[in-house]
Amino acid sequence: MMAVRIDGKELAKQVRKEVSEGVKCLKASHGVTPGLAVVLVGEDPASQVYVRNKVKQTEACGMNSFHHVMDAGTSRKSLLSLIKALNNNPAVHGILVQLPLPAHLDSRDVIQTIDPAKDVDGFHSSNVGDLWTSGKSFVPCTPLGCLALLKSVEPNIAGKNAVVIGRSNIVGRPMAALLLNESATVTIAHSKTKDLPALCRQADILVAAVGRPRMIKADWVKPGAIVLDVGINRVEIADGRGRLVGDVDFEDVSTVAGAITPVPGGPGPMTIACLLANTLEAAKRAVS
Ligand code: NAD
Repeated sequence: MMAVRIDGKELAKQVRKEVSEGVKCLKASHGVTPGLAVVLVGEDPASQVYVRNKVKQTEACGMNSFHHVMDAGTSRKSLLSLIKALNNNPAVHGILVQLPLPAHLDSRDVIQTIDPAKDVDGFHSSNVGDLWTSGKSFVPCTPLGCLALLKSVEPNIAGKNAVVIGRSNIVGRPMAALLLNESATVTIAHSKTKDLPALCRQADILVAAVGRPRMIKADWVKPGAIVLDVGINRVEIADGRGRLVGDVDFEDVSTVAGAITPVPGGPGPMTIACLLANTLEAAKRAVS
């Protein structure tokens, strides 16, 4: 039997609808419009596309969007003073600094300057600490979206074996923390893991966040497992044109998995939807 296709576009639409309703309620009850500030340093084309989408969807949900573009040579001092100004601006409830930053800027240093109460990306060490100690944190948007996708097909995560491939601060580690908080038995695999296919075959829930096109094949996957594919990789197809594929060989793995997310149309759309949800939550906390 073919795997159920988990539709990230559809779930993201539902989340955005709920956020729009929440924004209307907050305006009516407190006269407050949630505001998201997005800071882009430099001219990385992929980052420009992500930022454009974020700004468009923020406004479509009825929120205010503050878009700051700084040139690639921006100094640490200028960037940190912009972040401090945003921290002190009551119209701004969420601050997002688009990563990666140009090499001369230390992203950790920049993230640590964001007020944790406005850190809607959930990257500040205070939010990371809260996530691992089950506190009231902002959770990074991609893993948060993955958890929602997972719960849409399997509400009972407790006791399941979960394998997360990838240990980045943005995806792998927070994904593992979220699954642990749901009482899954979690293993984090990475580039030094031995016999990765055998480890993956033990997973009831398999999350791939690696950045290697179609690495995961059908014989790595336990029959009936739920597979969440976070990877976004551009590969060349005929006549030099590009196409986006995940870390999972979708066609192959669909023949054994119970459910699987596609790329595009899986965790990608959910990431922005969760950013909007986090911004609404930040605004609600600010008025409570
Ligand atoms: P990263 O490069 O920071 O981390 C990749 C991880 O994969 C590392 O921890 C590394 O140890 C591991 N790895 C590398 N090669 C491996 C191998 N052969 N076997 C096992 N593990 C291996 O990347 P990231 O930022 O976590 O992103 C991962 C992927 O997810 C990328 O394709 C990225 O584009 C995508 N991504 C998608 C979204 C989204 O919205 N859907 C958001 C963030 C990242």
